[in-house]
Amino acid sequence: METIDQWIAGRPQASSDAAVLSVFDPVTGQAYARCPQGTAADISAAVAAARSAFPAWSALKASERAHWLNRLADAIEARSEAFWSCESRDTGKPITLVREIEIPRAIANFRFFAAACTQSLDQAFHQESGLNYTLHQPLGVVGVISPWNLPLYLLSWKLAPALAAGNCVIAKPSEITPMSADLLARTAQEIGFPAGVMNIVQGAGETVGAALVAHPEVKAISFTGSTAVGHRIAAVCADQFKKVTLEMGGKNPALVFPDAPAHTLKTLVRAAFQNTGQICLCGSRILIHRDIYDEFKKAFVAESSALKIGAPSDPAIQLGPVMSEAHFRKVLAYIAQAKDEGGSVLCGGEAVKPEACNGWFIAPTVVEGLPMESGFCQDEIFGPVVSLHAFDDDDHALALANASRYGLAASVWTGDLLRAHRMADELECGIVWINTWMQRDLRTPFGGMKQSGFGREGGMEAMTFFTEPKTVCIGALPNG
Ligand code: NAD
Repeated sequence: METIDQWIAGRPQASSDAAVLSVFDPVTGQAYARCPQGTAADISAAVAAARSAFPAWSALKASERAHWLNRLADAIEARSEAFWSCESRDTGKPITLVREIEIPRAIANFRFFAAACTQSLDQAFHQESGLNYTLHQPLGVVGVISPWNLPLYLLSWKLAPALAAGNCVIAKPSEITPMSADLLARTAQEIGFPAGVMNIVQGAGETVGAALVAHPEVKAISFTGSTAVGHRIAAVCADQFKKVTLEMGGKNPALVFPDAPAHTLKTLVRAAFQNTGQICLCGSRILIHRDIYDEFKKAFVAESSALKIGAPSDPAIQLGPVMSEAHFRKVLAYIAQAKDEGGSVLCGGEAVKPEACNGWFIAPTVVEGLPMESGFCQDEIFGPVVSLHAFDDDDHALALANASRYGLAASVWTGDLLRAHRMADELECGIVWINTWMQRDLRTPFGGMKQSGFGREGGMEAMTFFTEPKTVCIGALPNG
């Protein structure tokens, strides 16, 4: 059994009451590590550590904080292999995914916000009414809460801007995938990162996560996770007038027109099944123009059925398991529900056991024949499952795409620029990709509308969230 720690004031710590949780390997279905079940007392200790580190950290020049973030990025890069293997072990993700995308993106997040904080947010206004300038001051102690699907990548997306803006942070990773946060804190300690600036508490959301949100000294919460939990967190934050940003669920449409470019098919299969469909941005409702529906369906099913499922250490593997036993049962229950709702399963639809794997594997599943109002098409399933739908014209495609309580992302596949602009204008979501998927420019605002999000991350939006703007007005001369 491996052991995972909490990190408070730069030191590894057990839970204050010594309680632990088991961490499971989704490839084998067996427990392989023990993680502390943090407590409200651990949150209080982390808040005290962060408060005492805050004066020195926030007083550093932006370039000095940037130096620390770059040193941390360098240290992760130098230990890349340790980060890939721990992330792949903890999540069952194919090694190629963590090696080529997720760990490099986590490193890029630290480097991006190191650079961003040296580009001042402060503004000055003059001539109209005295000289006004606006300071963006750090909030103090802030909390960040992340999910299991992209553990280090999403944690770094929050930690980096919070630290860069001069805050001290208490991070609560998912209890299902606590490993890479532990390695991050260990790495920070090895390079002498200032103690108490970045604290990691571990354990279940309902206990240690809720205690973090409720703590009166924690000035802001940045949360990524499910809409149900985001709803609960928003209520607690509202009660305390606490700043909050929520990145939540999605049920993203992909709109395929007859003039879609040649790479559409392969990219949409990737968009459906990358990370076993467990990315908030995955395209899970595929809307296809009726003129090409049959042909596209046939090719999509053939390509999806050919995906290689298995143990993540094999570089040829494209799909790993789903992340937990509870999630495995949930996804299979939705497939059964699709059949009850009148859907036809075109491929997959069942659990599979690749060689030497006894864990939670589900074959890539494609369903057709479901009305958009069915539970399968309305709920976020977050697994290797998609539904196909035919549409007749642009208005019909938009109506189907927007018939969702979620509004995170959409992709549009067409060679017609005017149509692409119209779709981008009328789709109800925070991100629209045209003839592409998952490309990102870190300067752009990231987030969703409707029940997918509240606030935005990314670029200066994230830096602004983690600061309090203060306007200073210097009076004009009496005759000025
Ligand atoms: P989850 O909501 O169950 O948990 C997310 C985090 O919140 C975990 O760390 C959990 O321990 C914590 N938590 C749970 N209850 C809490 C409480 N009462 N108070 C404070 N913290 C609490 O989500 P999950 O199952 O870990 O992740 C999957 C979800 O995340 C999906 O819905 C997915 O769409 C969403 N997600 C969204 C984005 C985005 O950018 N919009 C990105 C990735 C994942």
